[in-house]
Amino acid sequence: LQNPSVFSRFHEALIVAQLQRLTIAAHQCSAQTIQLTSEQQHYLTRVLRLREGDRFIAILDQGKWWLAQLQNALTEAQLIEPIAIETELAQPITLVAALPKGQGFDDVVRMVTELGVTTLIPILTARTLVNPGEQKLERWRRIATEAAEQSCRQVVPEIFAPISFVQALDLVQSDRFALQHPFIGVTDNTATNFLDALRKTPKQGILILVGPEGGWTPEEQTAAIAQGFTSVSLGHRVLRAITASIAVIAIAATQMDAQQP
Ligand code: SAM
Repeated sequence: LQNPSVFSRFHEALIVAQLQRLTIAAHQCSAQTIQLTSEQQHYLTRVLRLREGDRFIAILDQGKWWLAQLQNALTEAQLIEPIAIETELAQPITLVAALPKGQGFDDVVRMVTELGVTTLIPILTARTLVNPGEQKLERWRRIATEAAEQSCRQVVPEIFAPISFVQALDLVQSDRFALQHPFIGVTDNTATNFLDALRKTPKQGILILVGPEGGWTPEEQTAAIAQGFTSVSLGHRVLRAITASIAVIAIAATQMDAQQP
């Protein structure tokens, strides 16, 4: 393992399957050393029962994976060597989803992270019934980190603080999202089929709006379409808001992977 030249893809796959993955923030790394947080130390040593000298995979900023080894009374880890990995989608996918009631968004965060979403923007619409506090955002970011580690993602999706529908329409016009084709999921099944629409979309990434349990108001739907969003249908069945979010990301991610050589 010390010599990258004899580090075959087969061995890499074995290591990836067997070793724990842990997301490391940029400020935790200096030179080749990682300062572990007390939460990470607890998890690696008490929950996973790793000992000094044991190894894990450090997921560093910008999606780089490194083999790392515990040292210094388990407070630090040494970066040993990079691991080649490519698990991210070829283009970005942004999900702009109305917040469902209760804990429903936890499931959305977990599942769309597993599926490969790049950015998640929770929104409050005219028919949204909740207004979550700061603690919820921290919880969603923790869930996304765990799901990304579990799914061998190279990056943890970014989750924005909740904003209003109107703010979201402004935000998605910014340079950051300019190249992503904008779609809005609607239950009107005369809208274009989502998969057909994706097949005709240039390969620059997509951004999709999913409404609340009570649906979009006519004004919201009109505003999105006036801003260039394409209305799309997932079929003749009306899906729960949570199911719709997961379905759009599953369809878009699968289609993107299929287009890769
Ligand atoms: N009665 C509401 C309506 O007809 O709009 C139901 C809303 S549905 C529970 C919540 C959101 O999921 C919708 O606003 C839409 O964005 C999305 N959705 C649900 N089923 C869909 C479908 N078949 N096609 C596209 N989007 C769908």
